[in-house]
Amino acid sequence: MSIQELSAQELHPAPGTDSPGEAAHADARDAEGLSVWPRSARPEPHGDVSVGGVSLAEAADRFGTPVYVLDEHEVRERCRTYRTAFPDADIVYAAKAFLCRAMAHWVQEEGLGLDVCSAGELALAVTTGFPPEKIVMHGNAKSPEDLRTALRLGVGRIVVDSTSEIARLAAITPAGTRQPVMVRVVPGIAAGGHAKVRTGTDDQKFGLSLTDGSAQHAVTRILDQPHLELVGLHCHIGSQVAAVKPYVAAVRRMVGLLARIRDQHGIALPQLNIGGGHAIAYRPGEEHLNISVLAGRVRAELEDGCARAGLPVPRLTLEPGRAIVGPAGVAVYRVLAVKRTGAHTFVAVDGGMSDNPRPALYGVRYAPRLIGRPSSAPPRLVTVVGRHCEAGDILADEVALPGDVHPGDLLAVPAAGAYHLSMASGYNLVGRPPVVAVSDGIARVLVRRESLDDMSRRDVGL
Ligand SMILES: *Cc1c(COP(=O)(O)O)cnc(C)c1O
Repeated sequence: MSIQELSAQELHPAPGTDSPGEAAHADARDAEGLSVWPRSARPEPHGDVSVGGVSLAEAADRFGTPVYVLDEHEVRERCRTYRTAFPDADIVYAAKAFLCRAMAHWVQEEGLGLDVCSAGELALAVTTGFPPEKIVMHGNAKSPEDLRTALRLGVGRIVVDSTSEIARLAAITPAGTRQPVMVRVVPGIAAGGHAKVRTGTDDQKFGLSLTDGSAQHAVTRILDQPHLELVGLHCHIGSQVAAVKPYVAAVRRMVGLLARIRDQHGIALPQLNIGGGHAIAYRPGEEHLNISVLAGRVRAELEDGCARAGLPVPRLTLEPGRAIVGPAGVAVYRVLAVKRTGAHTFVAVDGGMSDNPRPALYGVRYAPRLIGRPSSAPPRLVTVVGRHCEAGDILADEVALPGDVHPGDLLAVPAAGAYHLSMASGYNLVGRPPVVAVSDGIARVLVRRESLDDMSRRDVGL
């Protein structure tokens, strides 16, 4: 593929358009307004939409609302896209995007590893059979419990995020063993969809800086610890990054650091983990990161940079979270109230910031769709709000919905698979929604709805 072709693809990325059949299918989905939905999404009679062969209106009736529907094939296909694009790399799913037992099984069956950031995520994965050696543990402030659990369960790699962690970890590593670790480096690159998710620059809490020498200092400290085995470097530049360039720049800086470590300590570290952060489209027309273009450019930079520096090419690891599970999920809500004020029409649904805090946190925009009945009413700009006791509980500001939307209607929000339920809260004791997996026309509950009983059981004082 020529450079021109690569950059053209980068400018106009189209998801899953490698074959002519796929391209035609993508065009049809665009025409139906389903371009950011799971690939299995189909318009059905009477305004319904099916995902994985399951009618969303029926799922809403059967499981209640709000409900999160997760397309198993879409998750698996996305895992395979990474494995095909990076055949020689370790692909590690970032569990914080969404984790339950079934999800852990799916990514394991597709040959991925798992990235966890707490003893809780780690224990869930290992108790459901995930091989601990394929788990990477992260965290800017790992608790003693996190580190003890990681050592006890035998995680493959622990990513050191602060100097104090080095001595703490070494002190509890059992005699006669060596824990493989990596250093989380801040490469000094600004990338990402929002200031709150930019993690590649020096002015945020993650990692050890390349520019002020703390990354190099941590490397020296780890090499001094006989119980720790430094296997490589890690960086994660941010989230919702739609361009390939920042990744190429990060690889260049990390190879530079690998070369300096070789010069200073006489060792060539065998692994390089370049994190995740690959953008998805939340609304039609938004850009996503093209994974095959990323693979080509990262591989070229890594091979060229290592050749120039006289380094062996390290084994690459990537940690996608959102791009694996985000587009596979659809949230379905029921409309409870419609209110017209002077300037706005508010459409209030039976969920909101307790199941999706992202609009309030990052100002993210979604594209909800009326489902379950046909409507020929002309579209009107409305604000879809939640049921919680805050004026900022907005799910989708200024979106076009049919003008006759009314209580009892169903609204479906695509691209809802990542960072919704994993960030969900107990606000207003509404209870977190269930997760229903759909595939081949069959729906099954993966995580049941949180009941009042679940919540009141924790409340043990008087
Ligand atoms: C959050 C995170 C990821 C995944 O980010 P996505 O934007 O979901 O791809 C990967 N690695 C690290 C260290 C992270 O903190």
